[in-house]
Amino acid sequence: MDQIRIRGLRIYAGHGVYEEEKKLGQAFYVDAVLDTDLRAAGEKDELGLSTDYGAVCGKIAEVMTGQSFSLIEAAAEKTAREILLSFPTVEGVELVLHKPQAPIPMSFEDVSVRIHRSWHTAYVALGSNLGDREALLRLGMEGVREHPLCRVEAVAPVYSTTPYGGVAQGDFLNTVMKVRTLLEPEELLELLQSLEQKAGRERKVHWGPRTLDLDLLFFDDRILDTPRLTVPHPDLQNRDFVLKPLCDIAPGLVHPVERRTAAALLRELEKNGELHVERLWTERDENA
Ligand code: ATP
Ligand code: MG
Ligand code: MG
Repeated sequence: MDQIRIRGLRIYAGHGVYEEEKKLGQAFYVDAVLDTDLRAAGEKDELGLSTDYGAVCGKIAEVMTGQSFSLIEAAAEKTAREILLSFPTVEGVELVLHKPQAPIPMSFEDVSVRIHRSWHTAYVALGSNLGDREALLRLGMEGVREHPLCRVEAVAPVYSTTPYGGVAQGDFLNTVMKVRTLLEPEELLELLQSLEQKAGRERKVHWGPRTLDLDLLFFDDRILDTPRLTVPHPDLQNRDFVLKPLCDIAPGLVHPVERRTAAALLRELEKNGELHVERLWTERDENA
């Protein structure tokens, strides 16, 4: 991806573990590499199509001087986050924060931390078959929407689906949403589980009735397998109630393990039997 690079931005600020450092302050230097698409701005020669690097420098200064951190790690983390939240054209940022006057009782040139942070794209499946199912789906969506580090970019139509897994129970409402997030996968899972709790989720029967189920389907093209989290969701390719809404918002999304698109996975399922899903409504219908 294209980049805008800023080097050696000098900022006088009070970060450090020692009280004197916080009180007296010292010079810090920031290098920032912004991942951003410059093609349109280059073609049209318009600032509005690019990222205003002067404004980015202003934001860096604002964060670095607005608060006193003990660690340059924390100052860098907060600065990177504010850049990503404030400049929608910036996809990712590499930040190097130098502290050449750090209190080290030896001769040295510089000490610095380097971090890279970026927006991630996740797909989340929502399901409910207990209680006020529509309100519970909404609770899940709103909970993600309201998180300061998440942006809900698309919500698929809601489908009515017959239960999966052989447990006798009421029909489900299912949908899928696309989320841009600055959270890491485990942090996003934690948010999803806290929303399930808020919806009064109880885990009594495996694949049994539930007020709200929020499953992480994809997280960028990452493949993860930890005791708490498997991504892509290991069963999504067998589920019409996941693939159908997913294909409404991301038919071309490539499954990083199966190496096939969501549309191809849905076709495969259709070939092997009937689909048991019925489209009910879309977010847009409701707002119309
Ligand atoms: P399924 O995952 O087959 O749809 P389920 O949604 O009913 O079943 P839950 O009871 O919601 O299962 O979750 C059980 C555990 O699955 C959770 O505690 C969570 O740690 C783990 N888990 C692993 N991978 C994922 C994922 N991709 N999304 C959500 N939970 C996951
Ligand atoms: Mg599930
Ligand atoms: Mg689940």
